[in-house]
Amino acid sequence: MSANENPFPCKPFIPFTRPHFNQETIDAVSEVLRSGWVTSGPKLAQFEATLSEYFGGRPVRCFANGTATMKIALQVAGIGAGDEVITTPISWVATSNVILGVGATPVFVDIDPVTRNIDLNKVAAAITSKTRAIMPVYLAGLPVDMDQLYSIAKQHNLRVIEDAAQAFGSQWKGQKIGSFGDLVSFSFQANKNLSTVEGGCLVLNNLDEAKLAEKFRLQGLTREGMDSMDVDLLGGKDNMTDVNAVIGLHQLTQLPVFQTRRAALARQYFDVIRVEMKSAQLEHVKLGLPVENFTESNWHMFQVVLPLDQLNADRAQVMTELKDLGIGTGVHYPLITGFTLYQKLGYKTESTPIAQRIGRSILTLPLFPGMADEDIGRIVSGLVGILKKHLKN
Ligand SMILES: *Cc1c(COP(=O)(O)O)cnc(C)c1O
Repeated sequence: MSANENPFPCKPFIPFTRPHFNQETIDAVSEVLRSGWVTSGPKLAQFEATLSEYFGGRPVRCFANGTATMKIALQVAGIGAGDEVITTPISWVATSNVILGVGATPVFVDIDPVTRNIDLNKVAAAITSKTRAIMPVYLAGLPVDMDQLYSIAKQHNLRVIEDAAQAFGSQWKGQKIGSFGDLVSFSFQANKNLSTVEGGCLVLNNLDEAKLAEKFRLQGLTREGMDSMDVDLLGGKDNMTDVNAVIGLHQLTQLPVFQTRRAALARQYFDVIRVEMKSAQLEHVKLGLPVENFTESNWHMFQVVLPLDQLNADRAQVMTELKDLGIGTGVHYPLITGFTLYQKLGYKTESTPIAQRIGRSILTLPLFPGMADEDIGRIVSGLVGILKKHLKN
């Protein structure tokens, strides 16, 4: 696709991401607002049914955001005080916050430096008699080895709560993430590949779990007959509105186009980075690139790992200089165990040394369907120029 055919035009400053809502979506939102029914109603039911079909018939329930979705997944699995949940320290802090939120204890396992996901080979050593679940995260949309994940879970009788927040549209051996497995949680936050502005969905194993999830999402309530209500557990207020659901329905029809564009841009990143690094004679500079996976990743993000050992600049300096060139970047993510709350709970950043290094040096470059082809050239030459400028002798 050439630049002037780009169907998602954007402004000269390139943000690291940007959601795209077309006119049809905007019109559909107006229609819901005029309909007289704006909160959870027919559009939500339609969105949940469509998602269920998308995931091969498994039950799906939607929630106000991805964080609520994961919290409810833990509640549905019956995880609470005294339980341990194994997860990764390189994620959005929501992942471990929800574990703390239900009264359980997150146990952080180091990551694989290549995939930047939890190192499944290190999971067994972290399992104790209190371990109830594994919560993997598919960073940037790249799944873990799903066969290995479920074989560990089976062997140790653990639940799996997949934080697939970034992996809507990702696959494993030709099967969609979410279409198999245990509890699979997605986010539809504005930056995600499919957005409802804010929102999330949980893929469940059966209708009993789906009913329980419905209770947790609305005050623990069940209704019967015309006027009968009961509350038999403590639920929250985590429902998705019809305004958000109708956005999701429209995004879902555009997803294949978004996906193709993301993959094409990622492909260009690899090609242009290799050419530019070579012509700048920086082949010895160890800029870490993502796994070149064009069958399973949904290319939610394109992240490089900066060779900080070889530079006399830190990540903040590189980000500032890119920003001065009109290029937005992001940090996904700093090490969770470095946060004050987690330090106070006694977690040590040194206990996951690979995550510690990557948490300091990972950098998210712009990637979203609205980018123009020539943006990639501008971003890469900006980055390569900065690397060259700050190279230690
Ligand atoms: C976005 C995200 C979440 C949380 O989703 P929200 O919808 O923002 O609550 C959780 N985990 C990961 C890995 C995410 O990227």
